[in-house]
Amino acid sequence: MASTKSYAAQDATAPLTPWTINRRDPKPHDVQIDIKYCGVCYSDLHFARNDWGMSVYPLVPGHEIVGVVTAVGDHVKKFKVGDLAGIGCLVDSCRDCDNCKEGLEQYCSNGWVGTYGGMEKDGSGATYGGYSKSILAHEDFVLHISDKQPLEAVAPLLCAGITTYSPLRHWKVSKGQRVGILGLGGLGHMGVTFAVSMGAEVTMLSHTAAKESDAKDWVLINLF
Ligand SMILES: [Zn+2]
Ligand SMILES: [Zn+2]
Repeated sequence: MASTKSYAAQDATAPLTPWTINRRDPKPHDVQIDIKYCGVCYSDLHFARNDWGMSVYPLVPGHEIVGVVTAVGDHVKKFKVGDLAGIGCLVDSCRDCDNCKEGLEQYCSNGWVGTYGGMEKDGSGATYGGYSKSILAHEDFVLHISDKQPLEAVAPLLCAGITTYSPLRHWKVSKGQRVGILGLGGLGHMGVTFAVSMGAEVTMLSHTAAKESDAKDWVLINLF
């Protein structure tokens, strides 16, 4: 058991304050990560304020996590100490239902485990997220992170990024297609960047005139 510094909401109205988590020791398939950066997703605020009526306190938000591997369990094959690694919204699922077997763990019929605010499948207690110094998860729910990009910019890809990349990829967006992005917030700016990089003609819709020049800045980044 390792004590880990974190920021936690103790109830739906309290500000986030320092709190100590007791993280489990790495199990055979666990990867332990020293967290370098964690994005702030609006879901973190919804959970901290119990906007969706499902929060369990103390609550440590954060599911856009990147850092360096500091320990691996005996059976871990995909990672070694020193690797860059990331964790997104999920840290476990049953891995046995039809959806899990298809790689669609987010639709796990027996309930996936959220990176925070979830309950560990082994009954060891609640999960706590990335507003903390370290975290660990089964290697199947840990991602390799390239050392060619700035880590702080990679972190938001773990939720805002995949949320917008997934539908664009699903619909095979490419040159010759037109894409509309509604809003240029945390997800919208990712959507604009991805869709333009995929070659589409992109229209961004916003109530805010100043977002026009912001959107053009994101168009200049070509990801692929
Ligand atoms: Zn998120
Ligand atoms: Zn499942």
